[in-house]
Amino acid sequence: MNALPGRFPARTVRVKAPGKINVSLNVGPLRDDGYHSVASVYLAVSLYEEVAATSTESPGITVSLSPESSLDLDAVDIPLDAGNLAYRAAAIMADVSEHATGVHLEITKRVPVAGGMGGGSADAAATLLACDALWNSGLSREELAHLAGELGADVPFSLLGGTAVGLGLGDQLSPALAKAQTHWVLVAADYGLATPDVYRTLDRLRADEGIVAAEPTGVDPGILTALRGGDADALSRVLINDLQRAAIDLAPALRDTLGLGESHGAIAGLVSGSGPTVALLADDPLAAEALATDLRRYGHAALAVHGPVPGARIISDTLL
Ligand code: ATP
Repeated sequence: MNALPGRFPARTVRVKAPGKINVSLNVGPLRDDGYHSVASVYLAVSLYEEVAATSTESPGITVSLSPESSLDLDAVDIPLDAGNLAYRAAAIMADVSEHATGVHLEITKRVPVAGGMGGGSADAAATLLACDALWNSGLSREELAHLAGELGADVPFSLLGGTAVGLGLGDQLSPALAKAQTHWVLVAADYGLATPDVYRTLDRLRADEGIVAAEPTGVDPGILTALRGGDADALSRVLINDLQRAAIDLAPALRDTLGLGESHGAIAGLVSGSGPTVALLADDPLAAEALATDLRRYGHAALAVHGPVPGARIISDTLL
């Protein structure tokens, strides 16, 4: 861990942060400020983004994507400038850190892009934690969570991890005690859905049907009970996502993916968040692996995961 004398002491802090699925998501009507209130149960799952933050002698923030990424980087559109959520997280940290340096962020992408699993949010959460360590900023978890909320509604949850109820824009989080694992198969699509489009579609569908949605005030306690006990059967009966029909309206093939999963052993399935990733619930780890294998035979990008898992964590800290 000793830097050579006279050389800039470059250091790399590597952090991993989980993607999430929304086990339940209730969406209120369009508000005057253009947002929607939600009530959601978030579950952090074992599919992780990684951010390696390296201090640089020259000032400024640079971003690259790691060749270790499990996604096809040529097929996705990820900005590498201030449009990247990780870049913005580093900029916010630099503002509040006395000893900020230049920083290079190398992101290993594994969470489907624009997939409704909060991949960009995980990158932002990982970057906050990495820069805090890199620059010895000494922020508390609460202070980091506050900055996370400024970056986006899903960023605080990726810092926190585990299971949590999210109210407001999804950023008012209350951790829920649920240590038992549930097992899922994630089916990624080879296209993305822009979250604002999905919300707009939901508003249109509701308007067409003359439905006035209620403001969500809380979540069905049955969901938390089922998660606490790791009771997949009970959970299968209470999964809900108000955005699902909007996602299916935009991408009708999602209905086939859900049907295929259920006819190959999933006990339930739902679109994750704004989609198009589909999360299929399985009885146990073996059933999840078997289901993922079956779906891959049909050409789907399917991966068995479990949750809850912890939030953003430092995995290494190296002086170069
Ligand atoms: P959300 O539900 O929060 O919109 P998502 O999981 O559906 O998240 P992301 O993968 O986070 O979607 O990205 C949505 C869009 O944000 C992408 O299409 C991309 O243009 C932009 N983006 C900005 N930063 C990132 C990042 N670090 N990784 C991926 N996309 C990013």
